Amino acid sequence: AREAYAEANQESRRHFESACAHMPGGNTRTVLFHSPFPLRIVRGQDARLWDADGHEYVDFLGDFTAGLFGHTNPAIADAVRSALADGISLSGHNRLEARFAARICERFPSVDSVRFTNSGTEANLLAITTAMATTGRRKILVFDGAYHGSLASFAGGSAPTNVPHEWVVGTYNDIDSTSALLDEYGSSLAAVLVEPMLGSGGCVPADQEFLRLLRRRTRESGTLLIFDEVMTSRLAHGGYQSISGLEADLTTLGKYIGGGLSFGAFGGRSDLMSVFDPRQPGSLAHAGTFNNNVLTMSAGLAALDELTPEAADELGTRGDRLRTELNLLCEESGVPMVFTGLGSLMTVHFTDRAVHCGADVRGADQELKELFFFDMLAAGVYLARRGMVALSLTIGSAECRLLFEAVAAFIERRRPVLS
Ligand code: PMP
Repeated sequence: AREAYAEANQESRRHFESACAHMPGGNTRTVLFHSPFPLRIVRGQDARLWDADGHEYVDFLGDFTAGLFGHTNPAIADAVRSALADGISLSGHNRLEARFAARICERFPSVDSVRFTNSGTEANLLAITTAMATTGRRKILVFDGAYHGSLASFAGGSAPTNVPHEWVVGTYNDIDSTSALLDEYGSSLAAVLVEPMLGSGGCVPADQEFLRLLRRRTRESGTLLIFDEVMTSRLAHGGYQSISGLEADLTTLGKYIGGGLSFGAFGGRSDLMSVFDPRQPGSLAHAGTFNNNVLTMSAGLAALDELTPEAADELGTRGDRLRTELNLLCEESGVPMVFTGLGSLMTVHFTDRAVHCGADVRGADQELKELFFFDMLAAGVYLARRGMVALSLTIGSAECRLLFEAVAAFIERRRPVLS
């Protein structure tokens, strides 16, 4: 499959080789690299993508959840044009940022006050900073398999380049070992930072009981609970917290909320966020040239209008239905394959065991996953090399059908190596 891929993508190979002259590995986003070389995408429209060799794909990746609105959403394009018309890099506050902040606070119940960043990575680092400053403690409990950005990654893979915080790394969804860590470190933990579903780490949802334990125990020990909702905020109009009924002290956001432009935000209780109020003595500085850039502010406002409560629910239902059908297909075919996730987010794992934590994800068969990836591309299905799918609002039932048929054909064709 890998050879057929290389054969069919000669232009992409040429682009990759020339890119290597000026970028290590021809790349500036490690997640996009895969062997033998990644595709060069030249154009997108709605749910479609075209590569340098002229192949057309249905985009089931949606830029790792940032591309929720498809590639050519007219409202977002208009918003960007209207911001451009009034000038960029204005060296001051602009007319959009406070409106955008108000909209985010309205939408996410536990966020009373918010600040913008340029990425989800920065949002998490600043939420951690807030927790350390307000508690006077240094340790941060995170979980194996989690991804909180390129400087706070616990998902395995390449050597991490994490900021040197005093990390304590627990096992996701493991109540006993997590309780023991909270007993041991509770009073010295500034924060517990957790994704309500391991996203990049394999779309592994948290058990409610696990999250409830974290909420209860952090309250008892004066530790802040930070929900990284960079991915999960799309699961409902008010984010994951609005469906789980659990409220975090601080929440981080990113991805689609900027309408597809660079975006991140962290926010939460006003008494915590006020450490950034420059009118307060001893306040923390949080600068960032592009934090309030007009293109993101404008695109983000339009994006929040697009993802209405109804649109969020419909997308979630479509994803749930697709995942259920795919899992039924795998089960009936008797192959060791499962799609985990929530709503519009899912990842395939080649295993016949339950997937609850980072080790379960790493323990699944990785070679079959590569084969799956190349077979999907050959069938016109664009998804992440790691087997992740993130539906955009432009994916309809015809597109879901295409994915389903492609997976059915994969199972049929690859049965000898699957069983
Ligand atoms: N947190 C989570 C849960 C993420 O999925 C990601 C990105 N995959 C990040 C943080 C980092 O966001 P960014 O890539 O914008 O830095």
